[in-house]
Amino acid sequence: MKRAIVTGITGQDGSYLAELLLGKEYEVHGFVRRSSNITRPRLDHLTSDLELYNQRLFLHYSDLEDMTTTRRLILAIQPDEIFHLAGQSHVGASFEIPESTCEFTAMGTLRLLEIIRDCPKRPKLLHIGSSEIFGLPTQSPQSETTAFNPITPYGVAKAFAVQMVRVYRESFGFFACNAICFNHESPRRGESFVTRKITRAAARIKLGLEKGLSLGNVEGQRDWGFAPDYVDAFWRMLQADQPTDLVLSTGKLHRVRDWLEIAFAHVGLDWRQLIKLDDRLVRKADPATLLGDSSLARKLLGWQPSTDFEKMVRQMVDADLAIAREDLHAAPKNC
Ligand code: GDP
Repeated sequence: MKRAIVTGITGQDGSYLAELLLGKEYEVHGFVRRSSNITRPRLDHLTSDLELYNQRLFLHYSDLEDMTTTRRLILAIQPDEIFHLAGQSHVGASFEIPESTCEFTAMGTLRLLEIIRDCPKRPKLLHIGSSEIFGLPTQSPQSETTAFNPITPYGVAKAFAVQMVRVYRESFGFFACNAICFNHESPRRGESFVTRKITRAAARIKLGLEKGLSLGNVEGQRDWGFAPDYVDAFWRMLQADQPTDLVLSTGKLHRVRDWLEIAFAHVGLDWRQLIKLDDRLVRKADPATLLGDSSLARKLLGWQPSTDFEKMVRQMVDADLAIAREDLHAAPKNC
């Protein structure tokens, strides 16, 4: 049985990856940050399964700022593979909290590399990079050879981490890979990302739980894929013969307004009547044209994104409708 550590297991990608690894009969050790709030909705279906939880799925308190604990856990678990997904993942928030963004995303990754360097039998490492490293790209679409030019604190932190993984691979012979991920979404996406913000608002406005939605730049464009596809590629990357960096993307650009069109039409509403533009949500800098070229991943891994854009948007709205219906029934009746 293979043993894996997943940092960031409570997040969107971490929860899908845990499912995938458990389905492949792995023993999975998730690292979670200690907080007073212990709800982990994305993992509930796994932690409530007594045949899995504390049998093949284990959660440990570990913080990438706390090197001693992280080192102790890694040495005790002796994983075959580490999937490093943890970090401050919100680009907009990185302008408000640049220092802690770099602490977790950049220095956290370096600390992890240093711990692996000391392991008697070094585990393989998958680090999740980001298209934000390209910022204002020098070429389009962007591939593994495109120069870094980040323009956000998050992008700078990820560029540091991606490059450091390369240094440890090349200088110390680590089996370490960067998955350079373009945006990837799902019903488990955090509610502050624009995609989920829109699908959730469409559902809640439809059911009368909310009246409108404030947004920043609706002309913003991204290459948006489906998260479970990307997680599948993470696993494949560590099963390959050679460690390498790969871009994961759909190669298709859409605008924020496309999400609005599809999501609101799906519930029979016109978004133009319901959206308020709010300057405070417009970023100080926002990459304009991040578009990925994932041909190398397709060639080396036999990988390809499975879900089409419109289907993904509608699937997310349907999931948010189900949650909104529960909220509606839980709300106190106005008598
Ligand atoms: P990111 O690519 O990781 O920054 O993903 P986001 O979902 O946070 O943002 C995607 C795009 O949506 C960017 O161009 C944002 O500027 C734009 N956007 C417009 N309005 C909003 C908003 O209210 N919240 C967020 N998060 N993004 C917004």
